[in-house]
Amino acid sequence: MKKGRLIVISGPSGVGKGTVVKALMERDPNVRLSVSATTREMRPGEVHGVQYYFLSREEFERGLAENRFLEHAVYVDNLYGTPEEPVDQMLAEGHDVVLEIEVQGGLQIMERRPDATFIFIAAPSFEVLEARLRGRGDTSEEKIRERLERARVEYRVAPRYQYIIVNDRLSDAVDDVQAVLRAEAVRADNQLHVLKEES
Ligand code: 5GP
Repeated sequence: MKKGRLIVISGPSGVGKGTVVKALMERDPNVRLSVSATTREMRPGEVHGVQYYFLSREEFERGLAENRFLEHAVYVDNLYGTPEEPVDQMLAEGHDVVLEIEVQGGLQIMERRPDATFIFIAAPSFEVLEARLRGRGDTSEEKIRERLERARVEYRVAPRYQYIIVNDRLSDAVDDVQAVLRAEAVRADNQLHVLKEES
């Protein structure tokens, strides 16, 4: 069976990358989302093993010592990481696997899995991003400033990604992600098998 493709999707808080990924999965049943581990507090409505594996600091550090993470990063005082084994399992089953991670993790995947596809989701403008963060209405000015500062860091790393997709209209952004995945699938280095005389 043909192995699946690893897809890294990053972008600042408030850009709607979770919504883009969700819509992509609704359109393409072969896409799977990797469930990360984190030490952050569970938010209302979140379920262990669904949005994240919620671990204590000790549990997370044990996982690190045992080399169980494909990448990990500190984000706003908490640890986040991608468990490696389930990702490889899903890829071996032929699924395309999405990692929805911040950019420090994205940079680690560029080193460890250079064959992956790297997509950065950006807002139409920084002003729009700021307005979206403020529009959520549930966060303090301090938190908004912290996220905007973090977004600036993410934007500085974005040029290292292969694709930058603007999330203005959701359906256009998902079309763009699908166009990237279709193009990647027919890249010559993924198509050499069709040139062989016998299969
Ligand atoms: P949140 O706490 O809002 O769910 O996520 C905070 C940030 O951490 C988001 O940018 C999210 O994409 C990122 N993130 C989630 N899981 C991982 C992971 O496994 N690794 C890394 N590097 N970042 C992650």
